[in-house]
Amino acid sequence: MPEGSNFRQPEGDFRWDGVELMAYKEEGSAPFKAITRQVLFARPELGCELRYFEMQPGGHSTLERHGHVHAVTIFRGRGLCLVGSEVREVAAPGLVYIPPMTWHQFRATAGEPFGFLCMVNAQRDKPQLPSEDELRQLRQNPAIAAFLDT
Ligand code: MN
Repeated sequence: MPEGSNFRQPEGDFRWDGVELMAYKEEGSAPFKAITRQVLFARPELGCELRYFEMQPGGHSTLERHGHVHAVTIFRGRGLCLVGSEVREVAAPGLVYIPPMTWHQFRATAGEPFGFLCMVNAQRDKPQLPSEDELRQLRQNPAIAAFLDT
């Protein structure tokens, strides 16, 4: 976001003037599907960043965990969210907190675009992906297995 402008006009379909539509992550770095990223606020003096992620129907974020935390506001549509051992249906304007080192994933399961605002620490550790063993353990919970197979 260029310095000097403190305002961003909405522009089009959940887009903002001067905010680039980016890939969710580097391709091949982790599993994900049909999801984009827009960085809304990332000023150094803020200490955190606010991003908008949006999935197309059937899309999902990466199943991951890390030491930093997320404060999430569902912003568009509805879908499913895994936090730890809990799978919940979430819809705008619901709120979701992702504590440290807690498995989490969002899935656009409702046949519509599913978007959320995500506040995150500016300084953050690298996300961990589940090992095969950890994935097997997660799948022992039937709700998580069903979620991962949607
Ligand atoms: Mn995360």
